[in-house]
Amino acid sequence: MSAPSCSTPISDDALVDYWFDELAANEEERIEEHLLGCAVCSRRLDSLVTLGAGIRAAFRNGAVGAVISPALLDLMKRDGLRFREYPVGPGESVNCTISAADDAVVSRLRVNLAGASRIDLELQSELGAGRLTDIPFEPSADEVLFCPPAARLKQAPAFVQKIRLLAVDESGERALGDYTFVHTPG
Ligand SMILES: [Zn+2]
Repeated sequence: MSAPSCSTPISDDALVDYWFDELAANEEERIEEHLLGCAVCSRRLDSLVTLGAGIRAAFRNGAVGAVISPALLDLMKRDGLRFREYPVGPGESVNCTISAADDAVVSRLRVNLAGASRIDLELQSELGAGRLTDIPFEPSADEVLFCPPAARLKQAPAFVQKIRLLAVDESGERALGDYTFVHTPG
Protein backbone atom coordinates (compact mmCIF):
# COMPACT_ATOMS: atom_id res chain seq x y z
CA MET A 1 0.00 0.00 0.00
CA SER A 2 1.48 3.34 -0.96
CA ALA A 3 1.05 6.53 1.07
CA PRO A 4 -1.57 8.88 -0.35
CA SER A 5 -0.05 11.73 -2.32
CA CYS A 6 -1.24 14.91 -3.98
CA SER A 7 -0.16 15.93 -7.47
CA THR A 8 -1.47 19.49 -7.16
CA PRO A 9 -0.81 20.48 -3.53
CA ILE A 10 -2.22 23.75 -2.20
CA SER A 11 0.66 25.99 -1.08
CA ASP A 12 1.20 26.69 2.65
CA ASP A 13 0.53 30.37 1.96
CA ALA A 14 -2.79 29.60 0.30
CA LEU A 15 -3.76 27.28 3.16
CA VAL A 16 -3.07 30.07 5.63
CA ASP A 17 -5.07 32.55 3.53
CA TYR A 18 -7.87 30.03 3.38
CA TRP A 19 -7.78 29.53 7.16
CA PHE A 20 -8.05 33.29 7.72
CA ASP A 21 -10.81 33.60 5.17
CA GLU A 22 -8.84 36.06 3.08
CA LEU A 23 -9.29 34.59 -0.37
CA ALA A 24 -11.45 35.72 -3.24
CA ALA A 25 -14.66 33.69 -3.42
CA ASN A 26 -13.65 31.67 -6.50
CA GLU A 27 -10.23 30.84 -5.04
CA GLU A 28 -11.83 29.85 -1.75
CA GLU A 29 -14.23 27.58 -3.61
CA ARG A 30 -11.38 25.99 -5.53
CA ILE A 31 -9.43 25.22 -2.35
CA GLU A 32 -12.50 24.04 -0.48
CA GLU A 33 -13.26 21.63 -3.28
CA HIS A 34 -9.67 20.42 -3.33
CA LEU A 35 -9.62 19.91 0.45
CA LEU A 36 -12.84 17.90 0.34
CA GLY A 37 -11.28 15.48 -2.11
CA CYS A 38 -7.70 15.50 -0.87
CA ALA A 39 -6.75 13.84 2.44
CA VAL A 40 -3.13 14.96 2.02
CA CYS A 41 -3.85 18.68 1.86
CA SER A 42 -6.57 18.57 4.55
CA ARG A 43 -4.08 16.91 6.85
CA ARG A 44 -1.50 19.59 5.98
CA LEU A 45 -4.01 22.29 6.90
CA ASP A 46 -4.74 20.48 10.18
CA SER A 47 -1.11 20.21 11.14
CA LEU A 48 -0.38 23.82 10.16
CA VAL A 49 -3.14 24.98 12.49
CA THR A 50 -2.18 22.56 15.29
CA LEU A 51 1.48 23.43 14.99
CA GLY A 52 0.57 27.11 15.06
CA ALA A 53 -1.42 26.62 18.26
CA GLY A 54 1.40 24.61 19.84
CA ILE A 55 4.02 27.18 18.98
CA ARG A 56 1.85 30.04 20.18
CA ALA A 57 1.45 28.25 23.52
CA ALA A 58 5.20 27.63 23.67
CA PHE A 59 5.86 31.32 23.00
CA ARG A 60 3.49 32.38 25.74
CA ASN A 61 5.10 29.98 28.20
CA GLY A 62 8.51 30.75 26.81
CA ALA A 63 9.61 27.11 26.98
CA VAL A 64 11.44 26.70 23.70
CA GLY A 65 13.18 28.36 20.85
CA ALA A 66 11.97 27.27 17.44
CA VAL A 67 12.70 27.46 13.75
CA ILE A 68 9.49 28.41 11.97
CA SER A 69 8.33 28.67 8.36
CA PRO A 70 7.39 31.97 6.67
CA ALA A 71 3.81 30.69 6.42
CA LEU A 72 3.68 30.02 10.15
CA LEU A 73 5.12 33.46 10.97
CA ASP A 74 2.47 34.97 8.75
CA LEU A 75 -0.22 32.88 10.45
CA MET A 76 0.85 33.95 13.92
CA LYS A 77 1.08 37.64 12.94
CA ARG A 78 -2.42 37.54 11.53
CA ASP A 79 -3.50 35.83 14.71
CA GLY A 80 -2.42 38.96 16.57
CA LEU A 81 1.00 37.99 17.93
CA ARG A 82 3.41 40.90 18.04
CA PHE A 83 6.85 40.08 16.67
CA ARG A 84 10.03 42.07 16.86
CA GLU A 85 12.05 41.15 13.76
CA TYR A 86 15.80 41.26 13.27
CA PRO A 87 17.06 40.61 9.73
CA VAL A 88 20.77 39.82 9.71
CA GLY A 89 23.22 38.58 7.09
CA PRO A 90 26.15 36.15 7.44
CA GLY A 91 29.01 37.73 9.42
CA GLU A 92 26.80 40.56 10.64
CA SER A 93 25.99 41.73 14.12
CA VAL A 94 22.78 43.38 15.30
CA ASN A 95 21.67 45.13 18.50
CA CYS A 96 18.47 43.59 19.81
CA THR A 97 16.00 43.69 22.66
CA ILE A 98 12.54 42.50 23.67
CA SER A 99 9.92 44.58 25.43
CA ALA A 100 7.05 43.50 27.64
CA ALA A 101 4.66 44.32 24.79
CA ASP A 102 6.38 41.90 22.38
CA ASP A 103 5.09 38.34 22.18
CA ALA A 104 8.20 37.09 20.46
CA VAL A 105 11.37 37.94 18.63
CA VAL A 106 12.22 36.47 15.27
CA SER A 107 15.79 36.39 13.99
CA ARG A 108 15.71 36.43 10.19
CA LEU A 109 19.01 34.75 9.31
CA ARG A 110 19.89 35.41 5.68
CA VAL A 111 21.66 32.38 4.19
CA ASN A 112 22.29 30.47 0.99
CA LEU A 113 20.88 26.97 1.49
CA ALA A 114 21.45 25.69 -2.05
CA GLY A 115 22.71 22.11 -2.11
CA ALA A 116 22.28 21.53 1.62
CA SER A 117 20.67 18.28 2.75
CA ARG A 118 20.66 18.88 6.51
CA ILE A 119 20.94 22.16 8.41
CA ASP A 120 21.82 22.55 12.09
CA LEU A 121 21.55 25.74 14.13
CA GLU A 122 24.11 26.23 16.86
CA LEU A 123 23.66 28.67 19.75
CA GLN A 124 26.37 30.00 21.97
CA SER A 125 26.43 32.70 24.63
CA GLU A 126 27.69 33.31 28.13
CA LEU A 127 24.25 32.08 29.29
CA GLY A 128 24.62 28.67 27.66
CA ALA A 129 24.98 26.69 24.46
CA GLY A 130 22.69 24.48 22.43
CA ARG A 131 22.10 23.00 19.02
CA LEU A 132 18.96 22.43 16.99
CA THR A 133 19.66 19.53 14.63
CA ASP A 134 18.05 18.91 11.27
CA ILE A 135 15.91 22.04 11.25
CA PRO A 136 13.10 22.32 8.67
CA PHE A 137 14.05 24.39 5.62
CA GLU A 138 13.20 25.01 1.98
CA PRO A 139 16.34 24.66 -0.19
CA SER A 140 15.14 27.62 -2.27
CA ALA A 141 14.62 29.90 0.75
CA ASP A 142 17.15 32.66 1.42
CA GLU A 143 16.61 32.88 5.15
CA VAL A 144 16.02 30.83 8.28
CA LEU A 145 13.54 32.19 10.83
CA PHE A 146 14.56 31.48 14.41
CA CYS A 147 12.50 32.44 17.46
CA PRO A 148 14.37 32.41 20.77
CA PRO A 149 12.35 31.56 23.91
CA ALA A 150 10.52 34.83 24.54
CA ALA A 151 9.76 34.55 28.26
CA ARG A 152 13.36 33.64 29.09
CA LEU A 153 14.63 36.44 26.86
CA LYS A 154 12.47 38.93 28.76
CA GLN A 155 14.28 37.91 31.97
CA ALA A 156 17.73 37.96 30.42
CA PRO A 157 20.47 40.46 31.32
CA ALA A 158 22.60 42.10 28.62
CA PHE A 159 24.42 39.32 26.76
CA VAL A 160 25.81 38.39 23.36
CA GLN A 161 24.13 35.53 21.50
CA LYS A 162 26.06 33.89 18.69
CA ILE A 163 24.22 31.76 16.16
CA ARG A 164 25.84 29.59 13.51
CA LEU A 165 24.07 27.81 10.67
CA LEU A 166 25.77 24.62 9.52
CA ALA A 167 25.27 22.36 6.51
CA VAL A 168 25.81 18.75 7.56
CA ASP A 169 26.39 15.72 5.33
CA GLU A 170 28.45 12.48 5.20
CA SER A 171 31.65 14.42 4.55
CA GLY A 172 31.22 16.52 7.71
CA GLU A 173 29.89 19.97 8.39
CA ARG A 174 30.56 23.47 7.09
CA ALA A 175 29.50 26.83 8.47
CA LEU A 176 26.99 28.68 6.26
CA GLY A 177 26.89 31.81 8.37
CA ASP A 178 27.68 33.33 11.75
CA TYR A 179 25.28 35.84 13.28
CA THR A 180 25.75 37.93 16.41
CA PHE A 181 22.94 39.37 18.52
CA VAL A 182 23.97 41.97 21.07
CA HIS A 183 21.05 41.85 23.48
CA THR A 184 20.08 44.52 25.98
CA PRO A 185 17.05 44.22 28.29
CA GLY A 186 13.93 46.07 27.11
ZN1 LIG B 1 -4.03 18.10 -2.31
